Amino acid sequence: MDSEKPDVLIVGAGFAGMYAVHRFRELGLSIKVLEAGSDVGGTWFWNRYPGARCDVPSLEYSFGFSAELEQEWHWPEVFSAQPEILNYANHIADKFDLRRDIQFNTRVSRVEYLDEENLWSLTSEAGEVFKAKFCIMATGCLSVPNKPDIPGDEDFAGLKLHTGLWPKESIDLAGKRVGIIGTGSSAVQAIPELAKAAGHLTVFQRTPVYTVPANRKAMRDAVESEFKENYRLIRERQWNNRGGVSNFRPNRSVPSKSKRGMGGGRRGDAGLIKSISPEQRQAMIDQRGLEVILNFTDVYTDPGANEIANDLFRSTVREMIDDAEVAEKLLPQDYGLGCKRQVLDRDYYSTFNRDNVTLVDLKQTPIERITPNGLTTEDTEYDLDVLIYATGFDAMTGALLKLNITGRDGRQLTDKWEFGPVAYLGLQMEGFPNLFTVTGPGSPSVLCNMLVAIEQHVNWIGDCIKYLDGKGLNSIEPLPESEQRWVQQVNKVADGTMFTAPSCNSWYLGANIEGKPRIFMPYVGGFPQYRVHCEAETDEGYPGFSVV
Ligand code: FAD
Ligand code: NAP
Repeated sequence: MDSEKPDVLIVGAGFAGMYAVHRFRELGLSIKVLEAGSDVGGTWFWNRYPGARCDVPSLEYSFGFSAELEQEWHWPEVFSAQPEILNYANHIADKFDLRRDIQFNTRVSRVEYLDEENLWSLTSEAGEVFKAKFCIMATGCLSVPNKPDIPGDEDFAGLKLHTGLWPKESIDLAGKRVGIIGTGSSAVQAIPELAKAAGHLTVFQRTPVYTVPANRKAMRDAVESEFKENYRLIRERQWNNRGGVSNFRPNRSVPSKSKRGMGGGRRGDAGLIKSISPEQRQAMIDQRGLEVILNFTDVYTDPGANEIANDLFRSTVREMIDDAEVAEKLLPQDYGLGCKRQVLDRDYYSTFNRDNVTLVDLKQTPIERITPNGLTTEDTEYDLDVLIYATGFDAMTGALLKLNITGRDGRQLTDKWEFGPVAYLGLQMEGFPNLFTVTGPGSPSVLCNMLVAIEQHVNWIGDCIKYLDGKGLNSIEPLPESEQRWVQQVNKVADGTMFTAPSCNSWYLGANIEGKPRIFMPYVGGFPQYRVHCEAETDEGYPGFSVV
């Protein structure tokens, strides 16, 4: 073991990089992790905005690799807030002594394959160079904040923030005039909290969101105990559920029939929305809440059923908003439920009934520019002390493309992905030997409980490296035909879903970033189906790869 030249270099110390350290150590490999932040946690280190929280139950959004960890950790709420998830990450780092292999405050800016030496060379922004035979990109799917180029941004005299780069220090908003741009998941979580803390909050909305109330329960001891007693069963079910969640219900261990498994608020299959009368639909909403409309399976495949659900959603929201004009602005009209990642909220709509909240519809009056005093739309000037960008991320490919990766024979990843990401199983790219991506494009990743997806990927990569080492092999990369076949498969399973409807413009499709190719990036065929492909490669000696 050469401490100067480890077996494996890993970029990123979010949950993916953290688990990789632990797993690879178990396999006897030496590791070095390079992380831009000053500590572990990734998403949960950077996204400290008020209201940030998980939309997968925390007992499920947790690692399964250590029974001891499962048993000793206590989640105070069913869906944990960011500070608790970051505490969990820190606990893991302490418990498994991970930090000794992580170099913090180190942003990698160049990655190059040295053909002669069969080594990867990574250069940090500070000019430090690191080399290893294997390189793992644990750089995250949602780790590059998107900040739109709005004229005048640099002139703003107040405090500018981005939800995905929120400072550690607490920010006193009392009496302040706060503006927030965006109404996606981050904004929907932040807006109710900001409205409570600020003097006045102005919400600049371009596209209204479909959001349903989140479960806001404190953890009950009995629920936690039953989960902990059944964790082996729960993990098995997660691995056999298309969204990586077990749907385990305490005192009701029969798994729900949820088809999607993820997307927040879904509580199993409610049948077909088209097969019941308008009165029955309304009765279900009255009894079970608005979120029940997410549970009809035809909503995601049949445009007619989707429109019924969209209408029901709109009529329910109209009833929640005092001002009819504000209500109309809040209603999504030009895309359907199921196109974007489902958003969950706590008091989102009721926040717009507060006296200190103003909604600005940017479709009616677009932003003209940011000024030293605030923000100007086509018809109004808004004076602001604080301006918050809740404008999302350059998702899935952003962090990888920023790394300036050069592969075999000088090939650039930016060229290879000019028309969208091309990768085999979201794990490796042809032309980039011994370089692996954790939850890369073409894998279930963001359509799955990410901790489950991360464990599966890290295990697969670890097994692959041990296989190569065990056989004295130099390198592995996908065959071009495997990669092409897989990209076609990823597109095929996404076709015909609401995710790829012509009216849909989501970050899954890269549509939130100007100039980004419109390609559906995650694998929507389900986690178990995906695993079959990965396991076949491992079991059959990697037939889809070129192993040298
Ligand atoms: P990340 O946590 O993004 O970590 C990547 C790390 O790589 C970062 O620390 C980053 O600094 C580092 N890095 C990137 N590029 C470089 C570089 N060039 N040099 C050095 N370091 C670099 N998923 C769910 O399953 N359920 C949820 O409820 C959920 N909620 C979310 C809420 C928010 C606000 C966000 C933004 C995401 C959420 N996600 C959720 C997705 C979340 O990203 C994953 O669950 C998970 O935390 C990803 O872990 P990761 O290690 O793969 O990536
Ligand atoms: P997002 O969903 O991409 O939302 C970004 C918002 O900013 C959208 O409303 C978008 O409007 C708006 N926007 C972008 N550019 C703009 C511009 N130039 N002018 C005006 N508005 C602009 O990003 P996000 O809310 O950060 O969420 C990203 C993902 O992170 C989520 O989908 C989810 O996977 C994850 N997340 C999860 C949770 C959770 O509940 N666990 C919470 C936060 C984030 P348009 O739609 O018009 O582009």
